Amino acid sequence: MSTIADNIAQVSSRIRAAALAVGRDEYTIQLLAVSKTKPAEALREAYAAGLRDFGENYLQEALSKQLELADLPLIWHFIGPIQSNKTRAIAEHFDWVHSVDRLKIAQRLSEQRPADLPPLNICIQVNVSGEASKSGCTPADLPALADAISALPHLKLRGLMAIPEPTEDRVAQDAAFAAVQSLQASLNLPLDTLSMGMSHDLESAIAMGATWVRIGTALFGARGSQQMHRQP
Ligand SMILES: *Cc1c(COP(=O)(O)O)cnc(C)c1O
Repeated sequence: MSTIADNIAQVSSRIRAAALAVGRDEYTIQLLAVSKTKPAEALREAYAAGLRDFGENYLQEALSKQLELADLPLIWHFIGPIQSNKTRAIAEHFDWVHSVDRLKIAQRLSEQRPADLPPLNICIQVNVSGEASKSGCTPADLPALADAISALPHLKLRGLMAIPEPTEDRVAQDAAFAAVQSLQASLNLPLDTLSMGMSHDLESAIAMGATWVRIGTALFGARGSQQMHRQP
């Protein structure tokens, strides 16, 4: 059985190889460990092996892990769908939010961000797979949403996030990630982040400019389906 440290080494070498293949500096790509459904002990193990950034989808689960791991200097990323009644806790307890897809949520996060914390780093989730995905703003709505969010005082708009329809077809993966990259380029804003690529498609995402790859399964193993919806 492989350990989390072994898995991190393997994922890191996939990132390095993918960067090398397209002439990118591997240090421009950061590894976000997606730890949803995994116990605090697994995050502690990943921390000991060098990881600092953790992505969580379910608020209550994330908050209880944050308490258990309060002795570690971790950086927390919220990456799941956001209901309005969760924005205050997200604004108070996270460093990044990758899954903002409407202005109302962004306004609440900005209003509720505590004054003693730095601006909350934001990625707008964009839906490049049409009807195949429900989350994310449409490409048509993106320019106005990005302009409005970049004007909010307690947020820092960093870039875009996408979860394309899963496929093993590299040509289709490349097309979806290239669409995200060109949407990013079409915005007249100083953005430095593309959050895209998961366990099965990180090579394609890196080829198309990813700066965060969000990796769960390849680091922590498969998630049991019975654990998938613990959110109350
Ligand atoms: C679960 C999840 C991931 C990680 O997916 P894996 O296929 O396990 O690597 C990445 N991003 C988001 C938004 C997720 O919900």
